[in-house]
Amino acid sequence: MHTKKIAVIGAGPAGLGAASVLSRNGLRVSVFHREAAAGGHLNDWAWLFPRFVPARDVAVSMAAETRQVDFHPGCHIAGVSRHANGQFKIVMPDGQTEVADALVYAGGFRVFDASRKEELGYGIYPRVVTSADLEKMLAGEVPFPVELLQQQALRIGVVHCVGSRDEKSGNRHCSRMCCVTGVKQSIELRKRFPNSRVTAFYMDMRMFGNGYEELYLEAQRDWQVLFVRGRVSEVAESDEGRLRVKAEDTLLGRPIRDEFDLLVLMVGMEADLPKWLIEDLGVKQIDAGFARGNDELVASNRTPTRGLYLAGSCKGPLSVAEAWNDGQAAAQQLLLDLNR
Ligand SMILES: Cc1cc2nc3c(=O)[nH]c(=O)nc-3n(C[C@H](O)[C@H](O)[C@H](O)COP(=O)(O)OP(=O)(O)OC[C@H]3O[C@@H](n4cnc5c(N)ncnc54)[C@H](O)[C@@H]3O)c2cc1C
Ligand code: SF4
Repeated sequence: MHTKKIAVIGAGPAGLGAASVLSRNGLRVSVFHREAAAGGHLNDWAWLFPRFVPARDVAVSMAAETRQVDFHPGCHIAGVSRHANGQFKIVMPDGQTEVADALVYAGGFRVFDASRKEELGYGIYPRVVTSADLEKMLAGEVPFPVELLQQQALRIGVVHCVGSRDEKSGNRHCSRMCCVTGVKQSIELRKRFPNSRVTAFYMDMRMFGNGYEELYLEAQRDWQVLFVRGRVSEVAESDEGRLRVKAEDTLLGRPIRDEFDLLVLMVGMEADLPKWLIEDLGVKQIDAGFARGNDELVASNRTPTRGLYLAGSCKGPLSVAEAWNDGQAAAQQLLLDLNR
């Protein structure tokens, strides 16, 4: 076994990807993870686009790829400092410390808080939910509102770009994952409520990954999801408890007034970097607040601090496969640097 000790912070897809490569190369690896189970946001989703694979199964298979890792669950790291000898001192919640020769930061992202967009009624009207809430309903962890289950002809609206591409909420960036999540969830809703009609309001459809465009076509052809290029500006509740939506059809340039029984907001992915990463370890940020590697093209996992690597969606919105691969890439760069 290698004598070097490596710390990985965060056991989402990116952290697990890094830990799998490092542990299989004989390094001593400690993984520090805030929640009890490895998987990160995978444990919050039901089925993954584009092929509806159960998200928790993916988390389990990713964790199974690691070898003899010292896993610290329920361990939120609140501070890391760097010694003069280049080692990292990691402070655990109980005040104990661990020292590592190199560190992979894979702390992921935060889901946009939709109540910041007051005009959309989240937190005010119970039938306005987010894509993150809907994942829990689809997984059976949170019940659908009972009245919905009893209703015959349901009208469901899906609102794209909530907290992304939006100056007002302070996020100019595109969260990349929410267009395809909107398509995935529209299909799931049609399967769950066969008598429903689903209308999705989008700015642009950004179906960038393999199989995503096909899923978009499937939603229209096989599930009759209606996609309207439009921006929702206001949501209010009628006396009967339905959601009155004001929007603008941006293709035809005319206002839309419609009513829905359920509205699903496609919330974006925001940066969630701890202060110590920026202030104590010198990590730089891009405009959207995500972490910036040394060079976007050839060294996106390296940082100005020797021995510190970035992995996954802490650098910007990524899919599960991209985050896993990026974690493995961070580990490969670390191995190359160790062997120099
Ligand atoms: C609504 C929604 C649905 C999605 N659906 C899909 C889908 O179907 N398919 C798909 O490919 N992608 C999907 N995504 C994107 C997917 O969630 C991300 O690609 C993936 O979670 C990124 O993995 P990550 O490891 O970079 O970050 P994360 O999953 O965020 O994992 C990071 C982990 O690090 C932990 N952590 C952070 N800081 C610390 C600390 N200081 N100490 C200890 N632990 C820490 C966090 O608690 C977290 O568990 C979806 C995203 C959203 C918002
Ligand atoms: S992926 Fe789609 S819904 Fe998400 S921010 Fe980009 S354009 Fe908007």
